Amino acid sequence: MDIHAFPEKSDISIGISSCLLGERVRYDTGHKQHSYICHTLGNFFTFRPFCPEMAIGLGTPRETIRLVNIEGETRAVGTKTAEHDVTQALRENGEAQAHWQRELYGYILKKDSPSCGMERVKVYKKNTPEKVGVGLYAEALLKNNPLLPVEEEGRLGDAVLRENFIKRVYSYRSWRSLVDSGVSMKKLTDFHSAYKYSLLSHNQNETRKLGSFLAEAHTLKLEEVVARYSETFMAILKRKASKRNHVNVLQHLQGFLKTDLDKADRQELGEAISEYRLGRLPLIVPIVLLRHHFRRHPKPFVDRCTYLNPHPGELMLLNTL
Ligand code: SF4
Repeated sequence: MDIHAFPEKSDISIGISSCLLGERVRYDTGHKQHSYICHTLGNFFTFRPFCPEMAIGLGTPRETIRLVNIEGETRAVGTKTAEHDVTQALRENGEAQAHWQRELYGYILKKDSPSCGMERVKVYKKNTPEKVGVGLYAEALLKNNPLLPVEEEGRLGDAVLRENFIKRVYSYRSWRSLVDSGVSMKKLTDFHSAYKYSLLSHNQNETRKLGSFLAEAHTLKLEEVVARYSETFMAILKRKASKRNHVNVLQHLQGFLKTDLDKADRQELGEAISEYRLGRLPLIVPIVLLRHHFRRHPKPFVDRCTYLNPHPGELMLLNTL
């Protein structure tokens, strides 16, 4: 497996709420086309649109639905007609989509929707809304695919969350390729070495624990190791990478070049990391310097790691961190 070769667009399928691609499936026959998704992410991913409300036959135009807490249970009912209850239809239809969702490497959901919203969807209790719900289709999706990177379009406007989601998509794709090719302890250890610095930028403690788990895993069944590794791997990546952790990783990588760089290059790199820490330069600057120095002074161990190349450069995701 070449850890640095990014898969073609046709090899990364992403599920998406249809209205975000401009399909006229909303209750009022409108759409919610999202420019960044359509015009930027669309060049890297193949979208699989799905509208759960159309899938259960609601059609357009249609009465809007909302989530309501009825005797402790969340139900999806019409905003005008309380008897118009589509809870069971949405839940059953959501469960029935598992077969094609298994082929996905990520999912982008429409925020606030009683069907598609991933979190903080309004749930009405005696006509008072509380932002505590999950859309009924999204709930089934998350339950059926616990490792799948899932994000809402609204959160993609945040540079850290956007980078995090896209990094998870590429990492998950890489993980699934490893599993499909047949995992061995050796392959798993190599995979972990490749991702170690990326993981450290998200959470140092959990990454060290995962490394120790792998080192002692030879007494366990391989399936058990793979199941626990995949869960923890994706859970660590889901946590936001912090500036402090990035600085730590950058300085660690800088350490491998200690004897290779002259004083001026060492100082330039140290200053770039420092300026990044102070918020005066984006992460891409020390990363580009490190890439440059490691090209001139190759270290096989660093060459295999994904931290310096987590996703295609054209997406420019490190320029805004
Ligand atoms: S159900 Fe989902 S995909 Fe369909 S219109 Fe509503 S938010 Fe968009």
